[in-house]
Amino acid sequence: MLQTPKVYRDPVRYRGHRTDQGCLVEVLPERMEGVRAIGIPLRHWVRHSPTGFEWGYGGSGPADLARSILAHHLGDVLPSPRVYQRFKEKVIATFARQNDGQHWEISSGHVAAQLEVIMDEIGAKCPICCDSGYEPESQKKCRCNSEPDYE
Ligand SMILES: [Zn+2]
Repeated sequence: MLQTPKVYRDPVRYRGHRTDQGCLVEVLPERMEGVRAIGIPLRHWVRHSPTGFEWGYGGSGPADLARSILAHHLGDVLPSPRVYQRFKEKVIATFARQNDGQHWEISSGHVAAQLEVIMDEIGAKCPICCDSGYEPESQKKCRCNSEPDYE
């Protein structure tokens, strides 16, 4: 029986802003308040957009941002393309409507809630393999398919 993978990370906030150097995205502790707090750069899992992240529409920069946020959320495992493309449409593409598109911030809780909606829509439990049992790119056994202590 396939299990929903656990997320082992502590809750964080993801924050993006536009600079002269491009679109920067940081990961910050959930409880550190204030826009001046400094985070660590979100790892860019490059697939669609070697030139960097983007947001506010449904293109390749936003696809890599959706993929990279979910990869971080899932504990450095890549999500299924079906999942991150929906996350891009529901979340990343909407950022332009906030703060003139220059700045946005979302919490782990928001990511988790959106992920739950998406998995309901897709009709699968595992956001990594969509219940195929194998990771989409590496074809390694998925975490949900190799958990030793499932019932
Ligand atoms: Zn899986």
